[in-house]
Amino acid sequence: MTAFRASGARLLVAAVLSAVAATDAAIAQNPCCELAGRDTADRFRVGAIADRRFTHAELWVALAPYLDRAGVSVTTVGHSVQGRAIRAVTFGSGPVRVLLWSQMHGDESTATMALADVIRAFAEGGADPLRSLIDERLTVTMIPMLNPDGAERFQRYNAAGVDINRDARRLATPEAAALKAVRDSLEPAFGFNLHDQGARTAAGPGGLQVAIALLAPAADSARTYGPVRSRARQLAAQLAVGLHQRIPGRVAKYDDTFTPRAFGDLIQQWGTSTVLIESGALPDDPEKQELRRLNVALLLSALEAIATERYVEADPETYEQLPVNHRVANDLLLLGGQVVLPDGSALPVDLALSYDDPVAQRGLLIGDIGDLHEVQAMDTLDVRGLYLHVATPSTLDPRNWWLVRGEPIAVVVRRGGDPQSQVVRRIPEP
Ligand SMILES: [Zn+2]
Repeated sequence: MTAFRASGARLLVAAVLSAVAATDAAIAQNPCCELAGRDTADRFRVGAIADRRFTHAELWVALAPYLDRAGVSVTTVGHSVQGRAIRAVTFGSGPVRVLLWSQMHGDESTATMALADVIRAFAEGGADPLRSLIDERLTVTMIPMLNPDGAERFQRYNAAGVDINRDARRLATPEAAALKAVRDSLEPAFGFNLHDQGARTAAGPGGLQVAIALLAPAADSARTYGPVRSRARQLAAQLAVGLHQRIPGRVAKYDDTFTPRAFGDLIQQWGTSTVLIESGALPDDPEKQELRRLNVALLLSALEAIATERYVEADPETYEQLPVNHRVANDLLLLGGQVVLPDGSALPVDLALSYDDPVAQRGLLIGDIGDLHEVQAMDTLDVRGLYLHVATPSTLDPRNWWLVRGEPIAVVVRRGGDPQSQVVRRIPEP
């Protein structure tokens, strides 16, 4: 018998899915909006946006049928560096104003997809009780793509190379100035700063891969809890309760160091109770469509909690006790194996591997080679007693054989050093 054991953040999919099925029953008995939200995500899915990379033009063509009807209005609130319109969609006529903005980093589109579905639900939801409640008590303003130029290239920065989320103090970019102007004209009670974070993030050391991280950003360097930030913390705690049921073990807290040039922190300081929602990744969700559904449920439950003021009953400790985001350098660690050399001999070295696209788990690259017992990875395979037959661009020529960090790699794990011996596993899986 050969030891061959997998552990880590991403290999518990079956367990998570059965936990979700079990909690669905509990959620059904507690008829809040988690279920309504999930139902909404399917019923009102904007199907023209089908994967996580789409342009400004594609977004607004997809949304066009749902704008300027049934209480949904759209206005242009600014233009990007390259002249694309930054648009805000508003729904509701209630006294409490809520502002949500997404994709200020152009390659972080999960919440934009979710906002598209929420906008369609507002336009077509008719007499749905949650829609009526929101309509009556809230005025919801959504900016679903703050950085359209970045989205065009699916890059973090705007066309001038500026990180808009580090421009909240100077307001040099038209995108940042547009967001500030909308905030100042509305003076919303609540704000939602919607982002995506790296897939190589665990819920604390050794924890599962984070699907959602929450933060009530600090409004000063002492990280004081005044009334504005305290309200945001209550709301984040309320959201964490629902998330614990839906994605147990996959909820975390984002680092709350004060960043004096970031929007979440300054909007909190300017008097809007702001929650940062970071979408991470879920196993087997390469285009983040499951995370999109989760976002729809989360955003609608947040609006419901504000409309009913249910969030004031939440225990801040639910938020405080969330595990903290823990960044991990590698996706996969192969521990205890032997790398087979071109002459048939073998070196006892571990391999750390990372995906070029860790969400979709595409493009496997060499991260590190050697004695890696203290190195961290999202998943670890114990390959003691096994042999690693590697293929990289340079190993194709046995006379000029190298393993080079950063180079693409495929590994066949075999029982022996002989290239014909029994295959245990192929990485990546075919
Ligand atoms: Zn971001």
